Amino acid sequence: MKAVAVYPGKKDSVHLEEIAKPAVTDIPNEMGVLVRVLKVGVDATDREINDALYGQAPPGDKHMVLGHESFGIVEAVGKKVRRVQVGDYVTATVRRPGKSIYDMIGTYDMTSEETYYERGINLLHGYLTEYFVDHEDYIVKVPKGLKHLHVLMEPMSCAAKAVQQAYEVQRRMRVWSPKTAFVFGVGQIGLLSALILKLRGLEVYSLARSKAGTLNSKIVKELGANYVSTAETDIDQLVKNVGRPDLIIDATGSSQMAFDGMRCLGLNGVLIWTSITGADRKIEVSSDKINIEWVLGNKLLLGSVNANREHFESGIRDLALGEMMYPGVVQQILTNPVEGLDRYEEMMKLLTNEKAALKVYMNVADE
Ligand code: BGC
Ligand code: ZN
Repeated sequence: MKAVAVYPGKKDSVHLEEIAKPAVTDIPNEMGVLVRVLKVGVDATDREINDALYGQAPPGDKHMVLGHESFGIVEAVGKKVRRVQVGDYVTATVRRPGKSIYDMIGTYDMTSEETYYERGINLLHGYLTEYFVDHEDYIVKVPKGLKHLHVLMEPMSCAAKAVQQAYEVQRRMRVWSPKTAFVFGVGQIGLLSALILKLRGLEVYSLARSKAGTLNSKIVKELGANYVSTAETDIDQLVKNVGRPDLIIDATGSSQMAFDGMRCLGLNGVLIWTSITGADRKIEVSSDKINIEWVLGNKLLLGSVNANREHFESGIRDLALGEMMYPGVVQQILTNPVEGLDRYEEMMKLLTNEKAALKVYMNVADE
């Protein structure tokens, strides 16, 4: 069968690879789920892997199959599988456990080992192919009523984890009840984070460079959040207008913005970084000012990566609630379909050049 793959470490190596079709029996103890892939989303991570910024091939292979945002239909299950049935829509988690204690209890997103194993990203093959198989523990059922949001389950899981972690660490405050959030960035993670925070009742300000009028700004407004163009209102001005936020999520992919968040967080607040910046940018920061403000304000900086099964499930619940509260809004994120695995070049081009492409995904097969 066909797969879209790269040679990790080699720039611009995206290509079509012929690989063997997996079988449900590849997973021991009758616990396998064979999935026929319908759609796969791609993001900046795929672009940066194709740029050879990171990513390693699975041991014994020169190539690595790309794709970590999966959506498919169950084709076959082992006899002991209980979580899903043939015909169910599913997605799959991305990271697989290493050997730390966190890995052993299903929180592989929190591994304490340097090496991490992620399908389509590092040391494991991804989902940008016709079929994949995995243990049922990594397969998450997608409700029929959400199938129109298909490849958003994985990005949503990362946003869900980030927000959940923020609330978890803020239990240090005992009575933390945040009112205002700034979300930096209006890409998929920024928009989905804004949705989750709205569902939790916060006043949300989504910041982006572009002036209002883009699809992203339309989605922000339709989610009941406030769109702020930093070309018109810079962060300091926004703080003057609405006060300092209790929570900031940075999802811009700009380490400059990540650090800018440190200048404006409210007392006792939490700043969450979610972007991966593979390059080597250096900026000057007002270190004394930040230092004193962070100490005197009991502020917290939190990094959040990946997501485990629990975050996929809570993300899916929030997408379902989101459809009730803001019907039809989230699906507007799914802007750029590419038809078929053969069109991998078009996919990579969109990912690299098309600034207005909010979400590029591949239609791998029809149902
Ligand atoms: C993926 C995460 C992954 C992270 C780091 C992101 O693009 O969505 O699942 O953990 O990259 O590799
Ligand atoms: Zn991703």
